[in-house]
Amino acid sequence: MAKNLVIVESPAKAKTLHKILGEEFEVTSSMGHLVDLPSSTLGVDVEHDFAPHYIVIRKRMKIAKQLQHDARGKQSIYLAPDPDREGEAISWHLANLLRDDQAKQARAAAAKTARKPSATSLKTSLKPSKTRPAGRDGCKIYRIVFHEITQQAVKAAVAHPGTINLKKVNAQQARRVLDRLVGYSLSPLLWKKIGRGLSAGRVQSVALRLIVDREKAIEAFVSQEYWTIEATLQKPGSGPPFQARLEAIGDKKAEVKRQEEAERIARELGQQSFVVAKVEEKEQRRYPKPPLTTSSLQQEAFHTLGYSSTRTMRIAQQLYEGLEVGEEGPVGLITYMRTDSVRVADEALRAVRHFIPAQFGKAYLPDQPRRYRSRKSAQEAHEAIRPTSVTRTPESIAQFLSPEQRDLYQVIWQRFVASQMADAVDRVVQVHIDAGTFHLRANGRTPLFPGWTKVYQDVAERERDEAQLPEGLLPPLVKGDGLTLIGVAPSQHFTKPPRRYTDASLVKALEEEGIGRPSTYAPIIQTIVTRDYARRLGGSFIPTQLGRIVTEMLIEHFPEVMDLKFTAGMEEELDRIEEGELEWVSVVRQFYTPFSARVTSAQERMRTVKREVIPTEHVCERCGKPMVIKWGRFGQFLSCSGFPDCKNAKPLPTGVACPQPGCGGQLVERRARGRHFYGCSRYPACRYTARRLAQDQDAGGTKSEAPPEGPGV
Ligand SMILES: [Zn+2]
Ligand SMILES: [Zn+2]
Repeated sequence: MAKNLVIVESPAKAKTLHKILGEEFEVTSSMGHLVDLPSSTLGVDVEHDFAPHYIVIRKRMKIAKQLQHDARGKQSIYLAPDPDREGEAISWHLANLLRDDQAKQARAAAAKTARKPSATSLKTSLKPSKTRPAGRDGCKIYRIVFHEITQQAVKAAVAHPGTINLKKVNAQQARRVLDRLVGYSLSPLLWKKIGRGLSAGRVQSVALRLIVDREKAIEAFVSQEYWTIEATLQKPGSGPPFQARLEAIGDKKAEVKRQEEAERIARELGQQSFVVAKVEEKEQRRYPKPPLTTSSLQQEAFHTLGYSSTRTMRIAQQLYEGLEVGEEGPVGLITYMRTDSVRVADEALRAVRHFIPAQFGKAYLPDQPRRYRSRKSAQEAHEAIRPTSVTRTPESIAQFLSPEQRDLYQVIWQRFVASQMADAVDRVVQVHIDAGTFHLRANGRTPLFPGWTKVYQDVAERERDEAQLPEGLLPPLVKGDGLTLIGVAPSQHFTKPPRRYTDASLVKALEEEGIGRPSTYAPIIQTIVTRDYARRLGGSFIPTQLGRIVTEMLIEHFPEVMDLKFTAGMEEELDRIEEGELEWVSVVRQFYTPFSARVTSAQERMRTVKREVIPTEHVCERCGKPMVIKWGRFGQFLSCSGFPDCKNAKPLPTGVACPQPGCGGQLVERRARGRHFYGCSRYPACRYTARRLAQDQDAGGTKSEAPPEGPGV
């Protein structure tokens, strides 16, 4: 039997580690969290020190016992969950669990009465923030941390094991307790006034607010008409025609609002002679972007691959934890995917600076390695997301990966390599043209050196479009050249409303506002969608009626909780707990005292607030009263407004006939296990389900596997 035990949180990671560490180490998995707050009670001592009352999760009881068993008789135990707060908290819970067992074993051995194992052993009180002495049977419990699952990183971690960082654990405890206090206080108010089973969350509700606010801005937007005027010109006897845009009339910027005005200007332009007034020519350098962080990975994967943030993180985790790469066996292909740092380890820098000239030529390597600066809050012990070996090119391992793994790996690999390549250089020409009192401008661009765009062409093009950089070639022109007018074309435009959030822009906004952290962006978005507070349509988030009502109610009664700055401040305080600058209990107390007063006064004020319903045109077939929309555990449903005298309730019809031949039913909205889908009104006689209706094809997804359930009453 191996003398050493390594505990991680996932089986795939265990497999990769086992290959690296060999037979002297037994590697096992906790399958995620073993310990959490109870689900049926608050589980936080708000009267005293906010001590969380942790329990072993019922489903994990067997694994917990197995781990305790596996740990017996070992010399060393290495706790190797992921290198962040959550991983630190898992390690801490594991250590407590194992030490409890060691103490119990020691007592049993001392008493020499090992007749009955105590059934209550697992329900021990795990007091926060207290380290206990190491095991008494000589077994040592270590914490090991590595940011990539590679031979070198893992062996170095085992050679220099550390202890659990309680500051990190406490930052995680504070987050967990704050979230619990908010959710537990706000959700019941939603149940009474909107619908059963709803939930509010400290960070999730603020993120939802962004989506709702954006929708309101779109609705309030009034589109403005405007016109642009382009002239097609040619230098006589030299080259193809080119476009120039009207910029100014006299010394005023050209702002054309109406068609008549545009047409008048076009007519007048047609009478003028066109002369080159000035030619400006310069070299323009474009720099590569830094290597990826969690936030930029999610944005990049959305833009290039169309992946949701949840999907991106799921695939990234597979790449990080290790995949079978031919004869190499399981290999961790990328560094840890939850990070806000753009730092690159020296070793990796050396490798990529060796790789670039060998692959692309010397001109593509800058003289000095590029150093990027992380966001203020980023932890410099962390690293950017990059391939663990730059020589493992996407092409070289494509055959071992699924298509989505390959595509995401390619995004990560390309961005990393590009981040250390030379600038792209273009020659940019701006030609100013006079025509009477009119001034026009033509732009041209000639690529001189591709630099980093060599490896990252699609992205380079997209970024150029986003920056609206000029495009196209111009004939050689000098001041004083006369030009021939070929045609004038006015075109009509309208100002556009703000865009709805996508996975990418929402993550970007969350990061910019300082809400959430690398480990929480994807779960926040997932929760909003799972709760049906917003839906994806064509890749964009649209708040549901429910999402809007919930948001408005929370803003009215809990303005601080729904305030972006307040939430961002909370995140900073959690960071400071991790830095050891703040004490977690006082952070929670400072939040809770005013918050709980708010909750009490909101309960008072809301006593007279009626339950939210939405009127419809449907009429109750039992009593003739109008039907209204209400929300229940399974989503929205139609309810008779005569409730409770008339208890008629049914799913919400969509007006779309069931496509099942000869069925005659109608599709209705349903929800089960957090999924939203459409089912036949004749269920269970007809079992047709669809994830979306034919009319909103772009809502994403495929046919649902979720079984229909009864109406939500
Ligand atoms: Zn009725
Ligand atoms: Zn049907």
